[in-house]
Amino acid sequence: MSDALRNIPSVDKVLRDLGDTGLPRPAVVAVVRRELAVLRAAVDATDSQQQTTDIFAHIRAALDALRRSRLQPVINGTGIIVHTNFGRSPLGPEVVRAIADVAADYNNLEYDLPAGRRGGRAAYLEHNLAVLCQSEAAAVVNNCAAALVLVLRRFAAKPPRTEVVISRGELVQIGGGFRIPEILEAAGATLREVGTTNKTTADDYARAVNDRTALVLKVHRSNFYLGGFTETPPADAVAAAARAAGVPFVEDLGGGAVAPTENLGGAAGEHEPTPAEVLRRGADLVCFSGDKLLGGPQAGVVAGKASHIAALKKEPFFRALRCDKLVLAALQATVDLHLRRAGGAGDDPPGGRPSGIPILDMMYAPPDALRPRVERLVAGLVGLAVGASVGTGEAQVGGGSLPRTVIPSVTLDLIPRGVGLDDFAARLRAGTPPVVGYVSGGRFKLDLRTIFPRQDDQVLAAVRAAAG
Ligand SMILES: *Cc1c(COP(=O)(O)O)cnc(C)c1O
Repeated sequence: MSDALRNIPSVDKVLRDLGDTGLPRPAVVAVVRRELAVLRAAVDATDSQQQTTDIFAHIRAALDALRRSRLQPVINGTGIIVHTNFGRSPLGPEVVRAIADVAADYNNLEYDLPAGRRGGRAAYLEHNLAVLCQSEAAAVVNNCAAALVLVLRRFAAKPPRTEVVISRGELVQIGGGFRIPEILEAAGATLREVGTTNKTTADDYARAVNDRTALVLKVHRSNFYLGGFTETPPADAVAAAARAAGVPFVEDLGGGAVAPTENLGGAAGEHEPTPAEVLRRGADLVCFSGDKLLGGPQAGVVAGKASHIAALKKEPFFRALRCDKLVLAALQATVDLHLRRAGGAGDDPPGGRPSGIPILDMMYAPPDALRPRVERLVAGLVGLAVGASVGTGEAQVGGGSLPRTVIPSVTLDLIPRGVGLDDFAARLRAGTPPVVGYVSGGRFKLDLRTIFPRQDDQVLAAVRAAAG
């Protein structure tokens, strides 16, 4: 063995010298083994000496990378409210309590308490979701993509009826890797495109349906908008085409807003259709996410005709897509909060009393409510190696919803001295909890709209540490 190889420390020695890393020991051992093997191979190839200090720095960096990849709370100063990278909708205290209660004890997940025997899952939740959506029935699966796959499996995967009629203007991609044509194909359906990218007429739908048609699908343009020379037929005309073929009319709504959105961001607000509205206009089924504008846990809701919902729940695939008890507990609590708001109608704009649904309260918080918080943060940062001031920002709903809506917001603007903006941002991301903001106009900015008031002191401590 060469001297260079002999100089590489043993796994045991490295483990002793590392001391307590805060990570489970078997995980640390795996990293140390892997890094030493890489090093040995490199030294073997070049026979060059490697400094022991370098070896330790290397292993420490690998352990740090592992530690930082652990799922953990993050302070979101980006101003993007439903941030897909940050777990979409945070849950309020009442919802978190509901999860903890069901998690810690046995529960009636599949038990009929009055009868004292086995019962169905999620009966209460399905009932109240149907009330919220003003539908005959509702069912819940893992996410909206799963809901759509379930619908396609049930209605469009049995020949000869496999054709799904959809406008070319709605063959969209939503987020990473969710492409409507690919989902259709994966579910065993056949795409029957109608119209053009910018114009689709009622007649296009009427002419496309035939004895191979399985369903008519509309997909909400969540994350982009069409402008200029465009045409989309009214929903009742699309519904009429589906009815003529005797097949369901399904709308994939995505967002799942149940509160009005047009007042967000001033006069030119966008209207996000609600599930109730889509069903009223003629859809037989609507599906949407639990963790976008509904503000609950990751889930997919299907609401609409009772006979269709019953058929979906009988589909063998439903078993593979069903939610666990923690999600059901969180969604149940979220739906109840929506129903309690505004006496059950759910139609009043939020913004008065806190709703218990964090994303709603963030969306509707007036900038004047955010300003005193930034002023207090600025006052707490005097005399440090960072210039702090009150700034303005443009918050967004995010989650691929309401792409044109800009919500005026208030920011903590920071200009660090002696360190670049990108390095300063990296220091804040390296803290516990990590703080993420954005750089604009030569400043590092933290939007207070997406930072909980209870996190203000953590932000203060993080900025102090990063400036030091
Ligand atoms: C976001 C979205 C989906 C996917 O929802 P998930 O809950 O993330 O699976 C599907 N359709 C539309 C229109 C969407 O906006």
